[in-house]
Amino acid sequence: MAAEKGRTKRVVVVGAGVIGLSSAVNIIETIPNVEVTLIAEHFEEHMASSVSGGLWNPREVPLNGTPMHVLRKWGKETWDHSIPLALSSEASKIGIEFIPGYRLYPEMIKEEEEPWWKDDVIGYRRVPQKEIKQLFASTFKDGYFYMTMITNCPIYLPYLMKRFLQKGGKAIQRKVDSFGEFAGVYDVVVNCTGLGAKFLAQDDALEPLRGQIIRVRAPMQHFFILYSLKAGMKGLGNRSFYVFPRNGQVVLGGTYQHGRWDTKPSQEDAKYILDKASQVLPNLKGSEVVKHLVGLRPCRSKGVRLEAETMNFGALKIEVVHNYGHEGNGVTLHWGCAKETTRLVQQILEKSSTLQARL
Ligand SMILES: Cc1cc2nc3c(=O)[nH]c(=O)nc-3n(C[C@H](O)[C@H](O)[C@H](O)COP(=O)(O)OP(=O)(O)OC[C@H]3O[C@@H](n4cnc5c(N)ncnc54)[C@H](O)[C@@H]3O)c2cc1C
Repeated sequence: MAAEKGRTKRVVVVGAGVIGLSSAVNIIETIPNVEVTLIAEHFEEHMASSVSGGLWNPREVPLNGTPMHVLRKWGKETWDHSIPLALSSEASKIGIEFIPGYRLYPEMIKEEEEPWWKDDVIGYRRVPQKEIKQLFASTFKDGYFYMTMITNCPIYLPYLMKRFLQKGGKAIQRKVDSFGEFAGVYDVVVNCTGLGAKFLAQDDALEPLRGQIIRVRAPMQHFFILYSLKAGMKGLGNRSFYVFPRNGQVVLGGTYQHGRWDTKPSQEDAKYILDKASQVLPNLKGSEVVKHLVGLRPCRSKGVRLEAETMNFGALKIEVVHNYGHEGNGVTLHWGCAKETTRLVQQILEKSSTLQARL
């Protein structure tokens, strides 16, 4: 009985994007006496996280079904986690940096519509009309200026992986066809498969939100621009506009195409992105293109799924904690979601220890 209570618990995290890696690190650093295995079809490339703009980007409206106060909690926990990393002497190897910039609107914002996140970011101010006219007269009517953080996932994911391996975590590269294969082998499965959960958790609410971007070299660009909308404002359809400088390059975006699975960069989208960028910021015209990329955001019409479920596979059953469906906000929310995931895993492990002890 005592031996069972003290038995090392086995957890498998499926998915090695920013959501899976942060969950794996959090679990292995928080829960005592646990063995964590990370399994993923892709590490570092061919996933939403590797294409992500990476801006800590508070939302104006709830993320589908996920309420605002929950988004704010997860976002704030991620912000608090990121600050010391951005200030660390190792920041260039971690990939998180501070960045000032403008969130801009095509219409005037009502005075009473001050954003809820204004005290969460640094140095927030409403942009005076004189400044808007001088810098962006032809495109934008109003906006906010503040400093936030940006995460360069091609650097941050390897950093998280190193932290995970240093704690004794195991990583395996392969596709998983069913969580049923883990029954009797692991105590808990953590499902961080992003869009892959459409098949592994049979979740019809998930669909891709295709995002095409271009990475360019533009060393003269030092602030971000983000085209944003308030409720009721008319947008640009399935395209938007952003400029995110980070680590010597600039990410230009981009598209928001619902239901599209194609990951080959389209020439038409690329032309739109480059034209729009140089129209708003002429200093970007003729920038050297480093890479055209497409990522599929895991968009879930019911919001982020962060909950525990017992999944049955015939006579077999397995405890699963789901953490997927972050759409265009996964980097902003990842650490808060990883903490909540760890709490749910811990609850399941404690419950099973108590049951075993009673037997
Ligand atoms: C163009 C673009 C710009 C973005 N900009 C921002 C931004 O500025 N700020 C922000 O906060 N967010 C942004 N996002 C959103 C953010 O990138 C995503 O929300 C986040 O990356 C989702 O991470 P994930 O780990 O859930 O999914 P992914 O990164 O897609 O990872 C999924 C993992 O699951 C694995 N997997 C799936 N199925 C299986 C299977 N059957 N077997 C084994 N492994 C499997 C994959 O191999 C992969 O390792 C952007 C996204 C895009 C595409």
